[in-house]
Amino acid sequence: MTTFADLGLSDDILRAIQDVGYTTPTPIQEQAIPYVLQMRDLLGCAQTGTGKTAGFVLPMLEMLGKGRARARMPRSLILEPTRELAAQVAENFEIYGKYHKLSMALLIGGTTMDEQIRNLDRGVDVLIATPGRMIDLYERGKIMLNDIKIFVIDEADRMLDMGFIPDVEKIGGLLPPIRQTLFFSATMPPEIRKLADRFLKNPKTVTVSPPATTSENIRQVFITLPSNNDWQKREALRILLKRENVQNAFIFCNRKRDVALLHKSLLKHGFNVGALHGDMDQSERTETLDKFKRNEITILVCSDVAARGLDVEAMSHVFNFDVPMHADDYVHRIGRTGRAGRSGTAYTLLTPEDDKNVAAVEALIKKTIDREVIKDLPEPDPNARQQNHSSGRRDHGRNSRGGRDNRGGDRGHNRNHSPRNHSTPAPQQQVQTQAQPMQQPIQQGHASAMQARPITPHVEKPPRAAGDDGHDVNALPAFLRRPATVKGSN
Ligand code: AMP
Repeated sequence: MTTFADLGLSDDILRAIQDVGYTTPTPIQEQAIPYVLQMRDLLGCAQTGTGKTAGFVLPMLEMLGKGRARARMPRSLILEPTRELAAQVAENFEIYGKYHKLSMALLIGGTTMDEQIRNLDRGVDVLIATPGRMIDLYERGKIMLNDIKIFVIDEADRMLDMGFIPDVEKIGGLLPPIRQTLFFSATMPPEIRKLADRFLKNPKTVTVSPPATTSENIRQVFITLPSNNDWQKREALRILLKRENVQNAFIFCNRKRDVALLHKSLLKHGFNVGALHGDMDQSERTETLDKFKRNEITILVCSDVAARGLDVEAMSHVFNFDVPMHADDYVHRIGRTGRAGRSGTAYTLLTPEDDKNVAAVEALIKKTIDREVIKDLPEPDPNARQQNHSSGRRDHGRNSRGGRDNRGGDRGHNRNHSPRNHSTPAPQQQVQTQAQPMQQPIQQGHASAMQARPITPHVEKPPRAAGDDGHDVNALPAFLRRPATVKGSN
């Protein structure tokens, strides 16, 4: 069995790895690290969750440890599509680089530039950036890119989705042609393949697990709802949240506006819930995520900004309040649970409008997911004003550059919401109760009459009027043991 020491990493890095508790390299690490150390270009077809971050961070530390940074002339650049991913990579550098004296700057939108500029002035070895902020700082003359020796493009397909490819190309054009480029993407659609061809010279290709597969550790359930009614959808979600033994969960909505709405509604119903989407300012996003990681908030309603790569240990549940408009997002969303060999559950609410998107998800994952019906799901008040939480607005998920919403708030914001008339809450009679096993069993499902925990829900009546609103690390986990295939151009 290959060890980290076999990969050619130095003692300082091996010590840091040992401190974290990893004993065995993951397949992507085993395959990628030696090539990166040989200064080869690399095309890594790997999803988050495979250990790919350490796959490039560890050898970068090794190589950068041998030189010194000069003011305003960083020696390496890592591009990430979202601020959260950029921050996560920065954390990885801190963890694995604890015995190194390398300096790092995190250039992300939504935070003040002053400190970023001060860091750049002092000289940094590693620049971790989202494309928008990176270009802003370059255009203000705050960074020189002539000394970049290693360029990492991470989550390239996500960059494409978010409309960042022109920015990425622009940045690539500013870098010295003689450099090492590492390019990672979970999927390889033709646009990404073309981009990789443009950036990479004679690369080695490392592929870990075919894209668009869902982990065996995740129990997937589709809840079929009888109507497209918004209130009923939220009611179904509340029933699930109360019944399931939710330790912590992400709830995904397709739209930022709906994130805000659902967040408000769940708060009102007494759930311990936060919200995360690309229009929030960065300090708020960071604070919310930190609270979630510390378990101070147990439920996070989020847009797809959280679907990729966010690494929260032991997440018990994912709920798709909306069926994603793009099938690959389903895989990324539910992949927030069932990580590191643990088990998890992913519920998706299906309304009659979702048929097409549901078919696309099942075609992509090559699986038919069990359907369940919530028995005795209260009927909405026929007199209540109802604006459906329509999945029919399929064209609205793209931004002006053809990318999806949730640019991570890096530069632009999503401005494409159609005005929707969400009903305002009617006063409801609510009785505060201790969390209790739920009354209405789910058919077929494991009607886990388990105690809902710190979440102390209110029990409410159906609306009278306008709606409710309002690692074991010592052993390599199984999911990381998937074989990696290596294709090399030579
Ligand atoms: P990533 O794909 O880089 O987001 O990593 C996914 C998770 O795997 C992170 O929580 C890492 O800390 C963890 N991880 C990375 N490398 C290893 C390893 N060699 N052994 C065990 N866990 C690892």
